[in-house]
Amino acid sequence: MDTRTNGQKQGQTGGKPEAIVLAPHSTAEIAALAERYLTPNYRNAPIVFVDGDGPWGITQDGERFLDFSAGVAVNGLGHNHPDLVAALQDQTQKLIHQSNYWHNAHAAPLAEDLCREFQRATGQAARAFFCNSGAEGTEATVKMARRYHAKVLGKPRPGVITVHGSFHGRTYAAMTATAQPKYQEGFEPLVPGFRYGEFGDLASIAALIDDTVGAVMIEVVQGEGGVAVPPPGFFKGLRQLCDDHGILLCLDEVQTGLGRTGTFFAFEQEGIVPDIIWLAKALGGGIPVGAVLAREPVAMALVAGSHATTFGANALAMRAGRTVLAIFARDGLVAHTAEVGAYLLQALHAAFDGQPYTLDVRGRGLMCGVAIDGDPKKVVDAARDRGLLLSVAGTNVLRLTPPLIVTREHCDLAVAKLRASADSVLLPN
Ligand SMILES: *Cc1c(COP(=O)(O)O)cnc(C)c1O
Repeated sequence: MDTRTNGQKQGQTGGKPEAIVLAPHSTAEIAALAERYLTPNYRNAPIVFVDGDGPWGITQDGERFLDFSAGVAVNGLGHNHPDLVAALQDQTQKLIHQSNYWHNAHAAPLAEDLCREFQRATGQAARAFFCNSGAEGTEATVKMARRYHAKVLGKPRPGVITVHGSFHGRTYAAMTATAQPKYQEGFEPLVPGFRYGEFGDLASIAALIDDTVGAVMIEVVQGEGGVAVPPPGFFKGLRQLCDDHGILLCLDEVQTGLGRTGTFFAFEQEGIVPDIIWLAKALGGGIPVGAVLAREPVAMALVAGSHATTFGANALAMRAGRTVLAIFARDGLVAHTAEVGAYLLQALHAAFDGQPYTLDVRGRGLMCGVAIDGDPKKVVDAARDRGLLLSVAGTNVLRLTPPLIVTREHCDLAVAKLRASADSVLLPN
C-alpha cells in the first residue's frame, strides 16, 4: 500500500528520481526490430531520431537533418522549443490526465483561446470539442453535423459531400470522406452517405446536392492531395451554395490551421464564415491534440453524453495547446509565417521555374509544393541523403511544411539542397 498520501508527493521523497534505464539499440537493431515486430504499414527510412534543435532533427548517430517536413506539419515550433519543453516538464510533474468527469485547469481556457480566434476571424461565437488527432476531428465533425440536422433541426440529412484528392484521416468515416481509392481499397464496406465532387469545381458539387445532404467537408488547401490551392472565389461560391441549401460548410484545417498558411485559420484568406472547422497537427506542438470548433448553435448538437473520447482534453494535451498558442501570440508567428512563406515560395520559383522536370510551383504560407514530372519519392530520398527532410504529396508533388520558426537562411539552404537533389534524380547525366 502506498503510504505517501498526505502532503508529500511521489518523487519528492528525496531529490530527483532517475529515469528508468531502457536497453539502447543501434540503428541497425532498431531497423531489424521494426522489420520483425511492427505492422508493415509504414515504410520507415533507416534513420533513428533521438534529439532535435529548432528545425533540425538529430539522429542517434549524430547526423543533423534540416526538417522541412516537421513531422508532417506537426512540429510548428520545431523541436525542443524551450518554452514548450518547460511547460510540459512542469505539467508532467503535476497532472497528466484526469477524466472528463471533472475539470482540469487547461481545457476550458484553451477552448476560450481558440473560440476567441474564431470570433475574431468570423464575428461569431463558437464552442470547442477536444480530441486527439485529425481523424478524430473528422469523426466528431460528421457526428456533429448529422446530429444537428437530425435532432436540432429535426430532419435527418446524413449526406456528406467531400472532394476527390482530399485527405481527412484513416478511421472509417474519415477514410470514407477521403476520396482517394488508394486509401479505401480493401477496407469496404465504407460508411454510407458520402458523395464526391471536385476540388475547386463548384458545378461538380452543386450537381451532388439534394435534400438528404447536410454537410460539405473540405480542406481549404489540400495537403496530402498535393498542396492544391483553391481557385479565387471558389470558397465564396461554396459558402453561397451551402447557404442556399441549408448545408453546413465544414472545413478541415488539420494541416492548414494554426498559422501554417500565413493566417491563423486558412479560411480567413477566403473571406468566408464556416460552420465547423477542425484542427489537430500543430496544435499540441507534438503532443496529440485535436479540436473541433463549431458555431454555437451547431456545437450545441453535442448534448451531454452524445460524444466523448477518453484521452481528449487531458491536462497535458491542453497545457500543450495553451502554451503553443501563447508562443504563437508572443512571437508573432503567424505574421512571421506569412513573411517567410512568401520568401520560400519565391525562392522555389527562382530555383525550379524553367527546369525541364518542373510542372508547377505553388503554396500558401509555409505550405509549399513543387509538382514534378518524375518520381517524387526518389527526390525525397536524394534530399535525405543531402540532409534535408521533406514529404511527398499527391502523386508527383514535393511538399515542404517546415516549422513556422524557420528563417530565410533555413529556406535558402533547403531550396539549394532540394534543387541539387531534384537535378541529380531528374536530369539526364
Ligand atoms: C493529417 C490530416 C488528417 C488526419 O490527421 P491524423 O491526426 O493523422 O488522424 C486529417 N485532415 C487533414 C487535412 C490532414 O492533413
